Amino acid sequence: MNFRTRFNITETATEALIKFMKLVLCEVAGKDFDDFPGSLYLARKKLGLSDQFHSFVPCPKCHKLYQNQEVTNFQQEGNPTIMNCQHIEFPNSSLRRSRLCNTPLSQIISAKRTIIRPNLIYPFSGINQQLASMFLRPGFEASLRHWANRASYDNIMTDIYDGSVWKSFKEADDEGSENFFQNEVADSHLELILNLDWFQPYDSTIYSIGVIYAAICNLPRDIRFKRENLLTLGILPGPSEVSLHKINHYLAPIIDELKSLWDGMTYRTYECQEGRKIRAALILILCDIPAVRKICGHVSSLVACHICEKRGIMRIGSIISLEWMT
Ligand SMILES: [Zn+2]
Repeated sequence: MNFRTRFNITETATEALIKFMKLVLCEVAGKDFDDFPGSLYLARKKLGLSDQFHSFVPCPKCHKLYQNQEVTNFQQEGNPTIMNCQHIEFPNSSLRRSRLCNTPLSQIISAKRTIIRPNLIYPFSGINQQLASMFLRPGFEASLRHWANRASYDNIMTDIYDGSVWKSFKEADDEGSENFFQNEVADSHLELILNLDWFQPYDSTIYSIGVIYAAICNLPRDIRFKRENLLTLGILPGPSEVSLHKINHYLAPIIDELKSLWDGMTYRTYECQEGRKIRAALILILCDIPAVRKICGHVSSLVACHICEKRGIMRIGSIISLEWMT
């Protein structure tokens, strides 16, 4: 499995490799290797390797999220049944007709045992659990502190730390409060950049998948976007890019976590085994322009972001132009 991670080998190739290894081992040593896993699934199970993703079921039409269990275990009068979306897009609007979405969220794939499978899956991985494991790595906190001791030059912007937002961002809404980014808290007050990228995973067909991930600005730029330092938050299912206001449904669980991180979470860290309070702020969204509009242009009568304020949007715009300049 280390070999697979190191050389970025696909699941299909790993599966074939495991099967080949089992064949060779059984040929050479016979019964001793009967227990050797014959598939990637069994190898993962044997080694106790599981991913940390939580599965939501999005509605294919309005993209409202549902819990996987709620959809796959849905019953009516004691019988497993396909659940329909209960979302109402304009519940209080006097101008638009409120309409129940009612789109089927799943399908029955086996009539004999009535197995219900969701039509779409949104794998989501929490920021908290990923940050907690990063803080246990040796050297991680030292990397976060690097910016406090860096050389700076007058009137030359070399990194995000030279920008006015980094220098003046407050730790509370009150303008008279202390700055959020200070040398004493260089490794416990984090700035996150949220990214959304769409890509085509398959060559032969048009199918877009989106990934929402976050980078930690406190880290030096040369390691900031390395895979091991990125927080992969959610994978938006295809087949096409989610429209303007509907992306909020996918952002909702991320925003809930960001709110708790703004207040502060206590993690056991490599340097402080008793635990220390870590805070984080999201003050930058970095992605292509249409995607930016999707994230920060969403305050509308349709689905308003449940915490975003207009002030935040204006800030986002101004920081993006700064990032481009630097
Ligand atoms: Zn729906």
